[in-house]
Amino acid sequence: MTTSISVIVSLLSIFIQSVSLASSSDSSYIRNLRFNESTNRKPLLIITAIHESHIQAAIICAKTQGLQMKIRSGGHDYEGVSYVSEVPFFILDMFNLRSINVSIEDETAWVQAGATLGEVYYRIYEKSNTHGFPAGVCPTVGVGGHFSGGGYGNMMRKYGLSVDNIIDALLVDVNGQLLNRQTMGEDLFWAITGGGASSYGVVLAYKIKLVRVPETVTVFRVERTLEENATDIVYRWQQVADKLHEDIFIRMIIDVVNSSQSGEKTIRASFFALFLGDSQRLLSLMNQSFPELGLKQTDCVEMSWVESVLYWTSFPTGTPVNILLSRVPQVLTHLKRKSDYLKEPIPKDGLKYIFERMIELETPVLTFNPYGGRMSEIPESAKPFPHRAGNICKIQYATNWNEDGIEASNHYLNLTKMLYAYMTPFVSKFPREAFLNYRDLDLGINHNGPNSYVEGAFYGNKYFKGNYNRLVQVKTKVDPDNFFRNEQSIPTLPSWRK
Ligand SMILES: Cc1cc2nc3c(=O)[nH]c(=O)nc-3n(C[C@H](O)[C@H](O)[C@H](O)COP(=O)(O)OP(=O)(O)OC[C@H]3O[C@@H](n4cnc5c(N)ncnc54)[C@H](O)[C@@H]3O)c2cc1C
Repeated sequence: MTTSISVIVSLLSIFIQSVSLASSSDSSYIRNLRFNESTNRKPLLIITAIHESHIQAAIICAKTQGLQMKIRSGGHDYEGVSYVSEVPFFILDMFNLRSINVSIEDETAWVQAGATLGEVYYRIYEKSNTHGFPAGVCPTVGVGGHFSGGGYGNMMRKYGLSVDNIIDALLVDVNGQLLNRQTMGEDLFWAITGGGASSYGVVLAYKIKLVRVPETVTVFRVERTLEENATDIVYRWQQVADKLHEDIFIRMIIDVVNSSQSGEKTIRASFFALFLGDSQRLLSLMNQSFPELGLKQTDCVEMSWVESVLYWTSFPTGTPVNILLSRVPQVLTHLKRKSDYLKEPIPKDGLKYIFERMIELETPVLTFNPYGGRMSEIPESAKPFPHRAGNICKIQYATNWNEDGIEASNHYLNLTKMLYAYMTPFVSKFPREAFLNYRDLDLGINHNGPNSYVEGAFYGNKYFKGNYNRLVQVKTKVDPDNFFRNEQSIPTLPSWRK
């Protein structure tokens, strides 16, 4: 009786608070303007939890009411899954739950789900200039979605993914219980470190293992157009990028620009790097392994690791480090993302074909993130994220646009799909693999009805490969009534499979 009264009191106080915060809170955390249209269904309410009991109360109340709950931390889901729904819903917003406690003594930190990556990097930097954490390069991305979906960044070749460096978690389950790694058990802990926690509960916090970074790191950005031999260099990058020393991470971005020589449209390949060491050692490694890039000392900039985070986010040199505490994204636009995995280098005539198609389409950009190093050493089943040995890189398809409206949206979505189709012969097959954090609803949508197991297999096999079945088994055990559900959640086993 006392419990139910305290739940009701707690709920009332949250609801009163949320009514006053709902509209500003919702629009300020819509990170993809594609979903900021009047036609998008709005949440019935937004619960801005400030205590774990608010999460517990929200779950219990929503379960009683049969209401769809969406969990939002940083709001960066590429398909708006944390704040868009076809059915009536409310948002449990975690942005107030963002404390970060760093302990340099045991090289760990407890990080609440509503914190951003920028806040994590800043709080580590406040205590040490020789520690960091391997996670994404965009500082406003939220810990809740990023870590629970894998989380990769430019130290992935040295230290693996964020989830490879998570050692504990606090999760509120479907019964409102607050669990840690020990009380939730290894299966559930495994599932929420890469399988998308929103199928299993609400993550309150993760405990991370910090990694060591040198006092001086080196960055560079080198660009080559077709006229500057880009095809040969891109071809060569595919052969070396995953085999370079694990201290080197060279992202390759391919886009369409106007040639400074002819004024005609051309392809530009940009090579964007982080090296965990000084420029002299980098140059010597590059001369041995990738001389074709023609890297020069003048291309290299030495800085601290935290400054490299700012450099990678394209903040101008000299920007104060506390910009990492800002929650305002640098760019707000309409966008679509898709992903692929490359197992074999694309031959030169294949590159030529893709470059010609890109020049026709003009807008979509391809970003190649190299794998290898630590990523190849971790077994496919260690975490739900299965894309380990055998991958040269992950490819991201990115299309951004500024026009509102469904017509513009359809136009740019279609361009992205066309490039994805052109790439089919060159990328992974059976399944055509994809990265959960690059959420893509084209891979399948779950209606969470009687067919949910089959619907889930469409995207589940692409995101998780052989780990999909274990994710389904864990789900069936911990949330048999599928309370934690969304358009691409992990379904329960159907009765004929139990
Ligand atoms: C600009 C930009 C840059 C990016 N860069 C990278 C990158 O470098 N590396 C990378 O790996 N990814 C990157 N991403 C993708 C990003 O990691 C994912 O979109 C991630 O899911 C975002 O997390 P979020 O908390 O901000 O998003 P949200 O939209 O809040 O959440 C995403 C998903 O996680 C669920 N979720 C959120 N919080 C919780 C919680 N507390 N408990 C349970 N479930 C929860 C949501 O319900 C939703 O399904 C980038 C995205 C953007 C927009």
